[in-house]
Amino acid sequence: MHGLMMHKQLLISSLIEHADRHHGDTQIVSRRVEGDIHRYTFRDCHRRARQVASALTSLGVQPADRIGTLAWNGYRHLELYYGVSGMGAIVHTINPRLHEDQVAYIANHAEDQYIFFDLTFLPLIKLIAGRCNRVKAFIAMTDHTHMPKDAGIDNLLCYEDLLQQGSADYVWPMLDEDAASTLCYTSGTTGNPKGVLYSHRSSLLHTYAAALPDALNCSARDVILPVVPMFHVNAWGLPYIACMVGAKLVFPGPALDGKSLFELLEVEQVTLCAGVPTVWQGLLGHLEETGQHFSSMKRTIIGGAACPTAMLHRFQEIYGVAVLHVWGMTELSPIGTIGTLKARHLAMSPAERNAVQSKQGRAVFGVDMKIVGADGLELPWDGATSGDLMVRGPWVVRDYFKNESDCSPLLEHAGQAWFPTGDVATIDVDGFMQITDRSKDVIKSGGEWIGSIDLENVAMTHPSVSQAACIAAKHAKWDERPLLVVVRKAQAALTREELLAFYEGKIAKWWTPDDVVFVDTIPLGATGKVLKNRLREQFGDHLLVKAVG
Ligand code: ADP
Repeated sequence: MHGLMMHKQLLISSLIEHADRHHGDTQIVSRRVEGDIHRYTFRDCHRRARQVASALTSLGVQPADRIGTLAWNGYRHLELYYGVSGMGAIVHTINPRLHEDQVAYIANHAEDQYIFFDLTFLPLIKLIAGRCNRVKAFIAMTDHTHMPKDAGIDNLLCYEDLLQQGSADYVWPMLDEDAASTLCYTSGTTGNPKGVLYSHRSSLLHTYAAALPDALNCSARDVILPVVPMFHVNAWGLPYIACMVGAKLVFPGPALDGKSLFELLEVEQVTLCAGVPTVWQGLLGHLEETGQHFSSMKRTIIGGAACPTAMLHRFQEIYGVAVLHVWGMTELSPIGTIGTLKARHLAMSPAERNAVQSKQGRAVFGVDMKIVGADGLELPWDGATSGDLMVRGPWVVRDYFKNESDCSPLLEHAGQAWFPTGDVATIDVDGFMQITDRSKDVIKSGGEWIGSIDLENVAMTHPSVSQAACIAAKHAKWDERPLLVVVRKAQAALTREELLAFYEGKIAKWWTPDDVVFVDTIPLGATGKVLKNRLREQFGDHLLVKAVG
């Protein structure tokens, strides 16, 4: 017998409708690429999103057509999130930090019909325009006055002109909630970029779960600044969450340096922001230099890469900002786990609490997870045994878009389909998952695994270390041994011996890195993650060469 409740479809357009009706005068503030600050409301955004949908309909855009964006976090990008998905087409956010060949590959693979872009990315558009034959027009996200002259692109349109042609009387269509809404490619650090195609339903369920108190805990009293780009897994869902709960949104545009971010956080009285650890390095560095403190910030979401314990300490104990350590993937929309404390952790000392929060956290309702060993058997949740992390749930990928490999990304395990994340993790009795490594980054020393993240965490607490990455270097006897690659803080005179001695008593002795190499910079990928494969190419033979020398 079926229940007798309404079967209203879960649609992305309902989020902006709700925000308009219940939080119509709540602000959306954006630092524009034109340089100024733009301010309007959810009501304005809803009106303009309908104009986008109407204008695209006039251009002949059909349901399920892919519409690309190459854009920073800003109000026009938000209008596309709602306008494109709302009309039944698919908004395809492209990461402009990828190499131009990858951008062209992704746009062609997605078969984008139109590509919207911020003026910053005009040079990139010029490089790819001739290679993207399916694209009917490139639309510069600016007004008539700022349109580039003689850009050399045949089919170039102006966003504001296009919008003027759209009607605000447009009515959102009733779509099937399982229809695709959004397309996002993985950043390619794990092979060729692969398309993850979210649906209206998966996006809405993710939004509900992510907003919960033990998740990101968002409300109408929050002012949210997503530093995480809207081209990186929908800015972790924050543009949707803000509409669901009616929080004010602040978009930083292209200005992601510590000084610009701090200015915006203070002027707009931001309470919650989100980004990868590398962004926070810049912000914390700025605060240290200037001696300033936050006046309104209460929480910061840190994810995409492990949050170093030293960063947790600085945010929480020095600046009074609670850290929400989040783990996720493009394939998970992206949120899987969040490190919110349980009641029993509250009595702990700050150092003990930071150790708990250094873990990637508990699964949000909707995500099932488990760890399995090489024999395929499920491993215990004892906080010590590590294995391959597998997940499943209504916002976890089932297959990649136009998957050419003939091979499902899912694994059959104990009669059910699971997504193998490629991460290696432990899970403790409280259900806190801790990533010890990505499976391909694990250091296998004499048949035992050494977790690189732990070793990086220790190095990062040294006052002279600015950045540290630990990689597997080939070793004649042990196959692989840990090698630490370090960027020293400016003017710091740290030696290899001092840093290695710093490990004493902090980890098992045999985990101590075999050597340290000091470098000026550590290579980062398009989503701010350390490119360990690049470091392995560069330093993988370091120990062998040293042994011979
Ligand atoms: P890609 O796999 O292409 O880099 P994602 O941006 O989706 O794309 O990255 C997901 C991966 O990032 C995870 O599988 C994990 O290895 C890493 N990751 C994400 N959040 C964290 C975190 N809090 N701690 C450690 N690693 C993380």
